Amino acid sequence: MATVQILNTLTKELELLKPREDEGKKLSLYTCGPTVYAYAHIGNFRAYVFEDLLQRHLQERGFTVRRVMNLTDVDDKTIRGAHAAGIALGDFTRPFKEAFFEDSKALRLLPAEAYPEATDAAQIARMIAMIGTLMEKGHAYLAEDGSVYFRIASFPGYGKLARVDLENQRSSQRVASDEYDKEAVADFALWKAWVPEDGAVGWESPWGRGRPGWHIECSAMATGLLGETIDIHCGGVDNIFPHHEAEIAQCECVGAKPFVRYWMHCAHLMVEGSKMAKSAGNFFTLRDLLDKGWTGREVRYALISVHYRGALNFTMEGLGAARTALGRLDAWRERLHETAGSETAAETSDPATEGFFAALDDDLNISSALAVLFETLRESNRRMDLGDEGKLSPAQARGLLNWLARVDGVLALEPEASQSIPPEVEELVAARAAARAAKEWKKSDEIRDQIAALGWLVKDTKDGQRISKN
Ligand code: AMP
Ligand code: ZN
Repeated sequence: MATVQILNTLTKELELLKPREDEGKKLSLYTCGPTVYAYAHIGNFRAYVFEDLLQRHLQERGFTVRRVMNLTDVDDKTIRGAHAAGIALGDFTRPFKEAFFEDSKALRLLPAEAYPEATDAAQIARMIAMIGTLMEKGHAYLAEDGSVYFRIASFPGYGKLARVDLENQRSSQRVASDEYDKEAVADFALWKAWVPEDGAVGWESPWGRGRPGWHIECSAMATGLLGETIDIHCGGVDNIFPHHEAEIAQCECVGAKPFVRYWMHCAHLMVEGSKMAKSAGNFFTLRDLLDKGWTGREVRYALISVHYRGALNFTMEGLGAARTALGRLDAWRERLHETAGSETAAETSDPATEGFFAALDDDLNISSALAVLFETLRESNRRMDLGDEGKLSPAQARGLLNWLARVDGVLALEPEASQSIPPEVEELVAARAAARAAKEWKKSDEIRDQIAALGWLVKDTKDGQRISKN
């Protein structure tokens, strides 16, 4: 049985991914979603593409993955944005939510099972309940400013994910902002008291009108939908501290169970040595790139083709290389189709091709996986160039196409749907091959007309029928 290993940020070790007992092959996966105060940039999408690769590979290996991704639609940044635009928070975030789903589709990200929103009444109620429990257990306190803070000194495990040394920190400080650095470890806000800049944004709570902190939002949405213990939790490395550290503290103090079994974090997408970030102004959104004539598939390739923990610098040359690689894959795929023709029996493909999936078992080693893919492409192209001796047979080509279909399930880099042949056309093509084999020429012509009526052109070559978009 295939075994998938991943590097767990918590232990810093490669670990075998094992579902919990009695869970069969089920794994829960929580992925921190976008803060919808702007269009997500492709740095954010590096994280989401990595998570998509993880999910798809786990599914290829027979796991059932339950994935939840939250939408952060109330926090310091969204409130600031709505205030600056002079519109209601919901009106401000709505177009960014819609754009996020459009972009996700263009990048071929599998949809999550649920996309909880922080402003949802049921989620807010859960956040308030969790804060109440933390207060009762002495892990939280109400400060003079009317806000509720998590008392980090009350949780000895604080710092275990990011390896923060609390000994040398003055933990009596407090921080209201959602983001702060390791040098300023401090009690963080769970519930922020309403201030005039919040305008109409606010909910009633036992501690007065206010709004949740970013960290409690994720804790509540994650455990609310996936249970007290989650198998895998992902994000970019910038999420490790303070966000994920705070999530652990909150959940483990409320529930007393380990919050997450495996933590996985991707490295940042960089631009000329700096993290691509909205605040740095060095970012591209997907729509910027689509406007320049790049496709979602090309951007996906550029983001997926470097190991998730490796440095990836964003350049237009990188996108150009993605375009070239995809062109080679498309031409090869077409050639395999020509060679396979109407052959339906598949010769089991070369066992070396299983190396593609074995490489991904090794902490998603995409470089080795792509090496197998391109080596297979080179070798089979060479054999399609040969004369009779050693030439790739139709059954071998069909075997490779079947393997490629599994690769597509994981990489999702197949040509645009408009170019891939729909099943009803495939069926007609097979029926036409049978008619031709039986020398039923009239029937063959009729089927060709039916195929044409569906918008596809069929050409007879010495290697069989060739199908293209009409
Ligand atoms: P945010 O919308 O800022 O909460 O970020 C959403 C996700 O994108 C988080 O998982 C971040 O860690 C991730 N992220 C942000 N910037 C980058 C970047 N330049 N490269 C990779 N991931 C990023
Ligand atoms: Zn989160």
